[in-house]
Amino acid sequence: MTKKEQLQQQGFKAYENDAICVFWNPALCTHAGKCVLGNGKVFEVGRRPWIDLSQADAGEIAAVIDRCPSKALQYELKDAVRIVFEESERQAVAFDGDTMIGECQYSPAGTNVWIVSHTGVRPEYNGRGIARRLVEKVIEAARERGVRITPQCSYARNLMCGKDEYKDVLQ
Ligand code: SF4
Repeated sequence: MTKKEQLQQQGFKAYENDAICVFWNPALCTHAGKCVLGNGKVFEVGRRPWIDLSQADAGEIAAVIDRCPSKALQYELKDAVRIVFEESERQAVAFDGDTMIGECQYSPAGTNVWIVSHTGVRPEYNGRGIARRLVEKVIEAARERGVRITPQCSYARNLMCGKDEYKDVLQ
């Protein structure tokens, strides 16, 4: 049975495009509002359908759903690209099969600070949310270790600065 079939059996509704399938179960939703705060264009209460996947790329939608506290929102990415955190190399890396197609690199600066110095994805993979997933992977690793991040590269800076959801980890 596919993940979609399993979740639909549990009462989840499915919303889908070429890049992502989003699942929502109203019975589990605690109305904490993290989804609407995370992206009010994708998640708009009162609109029908209230989830519009055309308003953001799959990586951004996935990052918002990761913050749903009740797991009423879930997703399945259709993109086969894998994101791997390589602590010894101080980077998160994107692979399509065995081919490396992107990276987000950082270097330690003093105690418990990482400087994100470079984020890059092969041009043919642009527009698929991979750069965002790479930075999110480094952020996730930093949070787990109690480390804060200085986003020096322009992509990470634009993604993180001024956003409430990254305040806890921004240096
Ligand atoms: S973040 Fe999750 S629990 Fe909160 S309103 Fe959205 S779906 Fe419901």
